[in-house]
Amino acid sequence: MRFDDNGMDPGPLQNQGCGSHTATAVPDPARDALYIYNGGSSGNCEGIDIFTGFPATEVLFDGETVAGVRTGDRGIDKHGQKKSTFEPGVDIRAKVTIFMDGVRGNLTKSLVRQLGLDENRSPQVYAIGIKELWEVPAGRTEPGRVVHTMGYPLKMEEFGGGFMYSLHDNLVSLGLVTGLDYRDPMFDPHVSFQHLKRHPLIASMLQGATLVYEGAQTALWSRVTDAPALDAPGAG
Ligand SMILES: Cc1cc2nc3c(=O)[nH]c(=O)nc-3n(C[C@H](O)[C@H](O)[C@H](O)COP(=O)(O)OP(=O)(O)OC[C@H]3O[C@@H](n4cnc5c(N)ncnc54)[C@H](O)[C@@H]3O)c2cc1C
Repeated sequence: MRFDDNGMDPGPLQNQGCGSHTATAVPDPARDALYIYNGGSSGNCEGIDIFTGFPATEVLFDGETVAGVRTGDRGIDKHGQKKSTFEPGVDIRAKVTIFMDGVRGNLTKSLVRQLGLDENRSPQVYAIGIKELWEVPAGRTEPGRVVHTMGYPLKMEEFGGGFMYSLHDNLVSLGLVTGLDYRDPMFDPHVSFQHLKRHPLIASMLQGATLVYEGAQTALWSRVTDAPALDAPGAG
């Protein structure tokens, strides 16, 4: 699918056999548009099956070549017994399987281990990032303002820092990223983030502001050259 003459997203794909699914086009002048689908139910869209609500649990191999994934069984009770609603997982086979299960995804982890994709690479380094989006009173900051912090409230042996980015429409993106190699079992990144928000610089920005969104995610902090090989027979 291509963008229209103005390079704009042609809009939802409702007239293109996608039911209620909508799509966002990511501009790439050199190639056809790449669509990111945003739909809540499984459906069939021009040969694309979207499976929601259950994970892939196992990588399938044909010899040394990745052949697809197996989805998890459903309808298992807390003792591991099959319930009346039991549905066995299914095998989804493909010529090429692209793994996008996050920075420390279980499937990718097993793939790296089984195929030795991290040979001669340094171990990966991970951090946890907590981010909040705040709407601050008008005029308090200007889009484009960037603040990075180091140290407080982390201890000397804890690695990390905060960020505060002023966006459009009085939005401020605020967060704290901390290395996951901390030694203190009582260390709590979320509590540290609350402490960071009490620093006068941050607190004055948040006074009277409204929390719009919050989230947390593991992040990769290794060098690109330490990344495992990004492809293998039948997989990417
Ligand atoms: C605090 C913080 C702030 C950030 N800010 C920005 C920013 O401003 N701009 C930016 O561009 N990037 C930002 N990033 C980075 C960005 O979030 C990541 O690069 C991006 O989310 C990685 O996308 P991904 O698809 O590889 O993994 P993820 O977003 O982790 O997606 C993986 C998905 O796979 C699913 N999954 C995992 N295992 C399975 C399985 N077995 N079966 C089925 N599904 C599975 C998970 O549920 C998840 O939905 C930020 C990250 C952090 C931590």
